[in-house]
Amino acid sequence: MPHKTEYQELKETIRRLETRASIVDTLSNQLFQEQQFLKILLNTIPSPIFFKDCEGVYRHCNEAFSREILGLDRQQILGKSLFDLPEEIPVELAEIYRKKDKALLDNPGTQVYKSEVLCSDGINRIYQFYKSTIMSESGEVAGIVGIMLDITSLEASHTKLEKQNTELESISYLDSLTGLFNRRKFDEVYPSLLLAPREDGILLNFAIFDIDHFKPFNDTYGHPTGDEALKEVAAVILRRLQTHSPHVFRIGGEEFCILFTSNNEAEALKQVEGIRKDVEALSIPHVYKGAAGVLTVSAGLLSMKTRRLDFKEVYEDADQLLYDAKHSGRNLVAQRLR
Ligand code: GH3
Ligand code: MG
Ligand code: MG
Repeated sequence: MPHKTEYQELKETIRRLETRASIVDTLSNQLFQEQQFLKILLNTIPSPIFFKDCEGVYRHCNEAFSREILGLDRQQILGKSLFDLPEEIPVELAEIYRKKDKALLDNPGTQVYKSEVLCSDGINRIYQFYKSTIMSESGEVAGIVGIMLDITSLEASHTKLEKQNTELESISYLDSLTGLFNRRKFDEVYPSLLLAPREDGILLNFAIFDIDHFKPFNDTYGHPTGDEALKEVAAVILRRLQTHSPHVFRIGGEEFCILFTSNNEAEALKQVEGIRKDVEALSIPHVYKGAAGVLTVSAGLLSMKTRRLDFKEVYEDADQLLYDAKHSGRNLVAQRLR
């Protein structure tokens, strides 16, 4: 009988061992498959992936990393630190990478940044790094895993787009006929130009110019000749104000405005009068009853001492002065100090 019991116990032990062996078999099968899955997945991903321990020693990397970044076999990389591969990673770069790694290890979590990397084919590429600390079973930081996304072409198109936007924006601020800043630009900068700081005693001057009898000029000489006249008037204004770092705009069909500083009222008037005379001196024929025989402009000039300026009021005041100049006979400048 005791023999039989021993035999049965033995049989049961064998059965238990067999069951365990089969579980171990299944588990190791699963583990193998998962390892295979991860290995193939890592090498299929075209982005470089790496794992470094806390000492900065490479423990894992995928083929994209070994091939495209360092140009070495995986076996030549694993077990080496950033500083063990001076041919592939110049010391200055290794120092930078190490500092980044240290910052992440000191403050575990994730780290995302852009960096230029010299690749194994000798080309510098821009990569977005996504790095995370990885924990050991005991809950301590064990190292860093990272993936690098090549954003070189994305960056290039971004830069190109920004450049095009800047170009487009500057074009949209220009009047295509005269090359002066247009109404859009004026509306945008006028309020801030009025408030721009200036030294004590310096006047800010705002003048609006309007070509006299321009409608009949167009009617008589044709629209293209009118366009040419507009260009010539714009050039005259620019030439006169060259040394005053002025702001010149074409704000309407045959209306221009300028903002400039002066030491006093007389100096401002001399400038605007100068423009009026220069336009007259262009001697563009304008034979029309009431016209001066040549093309002329009238201007309203507001010279401002005060700094607390309401831009709507300033505009209305200058426009009223222009109206006064027109009604006093045209080819005139009306000025007022405010
Ligand atoms: P005033 O002396 O009172 O200013 O009379 P005006 O005829 O100049 O005034 P009005 O505002 O009646 O006419 C402005 C004219 O400017 C009408 C329009 O034909 C002309 N004009 C506006 N824009 C342009 C342009 O881009 N090119 C040309 N050639 N003419 C333009
Ligand atoms: Mg007008
Ligand atoms: Mg006019």
